[in-house]
Amino acid sequence: LVVLALFAGCAQSQRSSHSGGDPQWALAIHGGAGFIDPNISAEGRAAYENGITEALRHGADRLAKGDDAIEVVETVVRILETNPLFNAGCGGVFAADGTVKHDASIMDGRDLSCGATTGTTTVKHPITLARKVMTDTRFVFLSGEGAEEFADGTDVERVDNSYFQTEPRRRDLEKRLRTDAGGTVGCVAMDTSGNLAAATSTGGLTAKKWGRIGDSPVVGAGTYADNRTCALSGTGEGEQYIRHAIAHEVHALMLHKGWSLERACNHVLTDVLKPDDGGIIGVSSTGELITLTNTPSMTRGKADSTGRFEISIWED
Ligand code: ASP
Repeated sequence: LVVLALFAGCAQSQRSSHSGGDPQWALAIHGGAGFIDPNISAEGRAAYENGITEALRHGADRLAKGDDAIEVVETVVRILETNPLFNAGCGGVFAADGTVKHDASIMDGRDLSCGATTGTTTVKHPITLARKVMTDTRFVFLSGEGAEEFADGTDVERVDNSYFQTEPRRRDLEKRLRTDAGGTVGCVAMDTSGNLAAATSTGGLTAKKWGRIGDSPVVGAGTYADNRTCALSGTGEGEQYIRHAIAHEVHALMLHKGWSLERACNHVLTDVLKPDDGGIIGVSSTGELITLTNTPSMTRGKADSTGRFEISIWED
């Protein structure tokens, strides 16, 4: 059992569209569901905790300053994409052909605008390209060569594919293993105006082939945001999340059945998905936060304007 509760000490925002005890802003992040050995070395554990803490702290500070949720989820995911521990950006898992290919999506709950990319190999921050698809095109989802061609016309940073490649991930490919820790990253946020946003970024599954696309860039499967209900980011067996349209399912249960975020997420994790399929993080329109998984571990964090700042890896 690992739960760290730290106090953020962030100033509370002056603006609020919420009343009563609801938080004025709220944030959750994940660094992937899967299996991290509870007997991991102290340094190994600290590395995960530090990675999550750094991203959560940055997002919390930005939201406390009044930044937009969409801005914050992109920035937080960029931080996680830079950390080689996580399966996104640098440190993404290898596809069967020996390259790292990224999937990412982002969604703005204000107007359901969204953007996604799949199979990119030279874009340093796939989440930023996904956001540009959202803001600079009339399309939602770009793939492979087309996404790279679109990137050519933007100012997004480009790198050689070797930038993403790490030795532990190469060993995973040699063993054809699903990476121990999963490691996909995601962020959901509610800002001080009550707007919701979600972002998810991943290298997908080790040894993926034939242009396999997981749930992370599929809006409604691995990512969803609608100001009326919630913002969500999933991690786990992408095929299951696509099959059951997991993120949209949670949104729909809240919208049409009036369920709470927690009830809807518990339902999909226990009654829809199979044990060990994965996890989900969410924030509701009232600032309720959930980080739940049906796998042995999920690196995750929650923070809000009431001073909550919690990170965990195993069961709470
Ligand atoms: N959901 C991701 C995928 O299937 C992988 C993960 O979250 O570990 O591509």
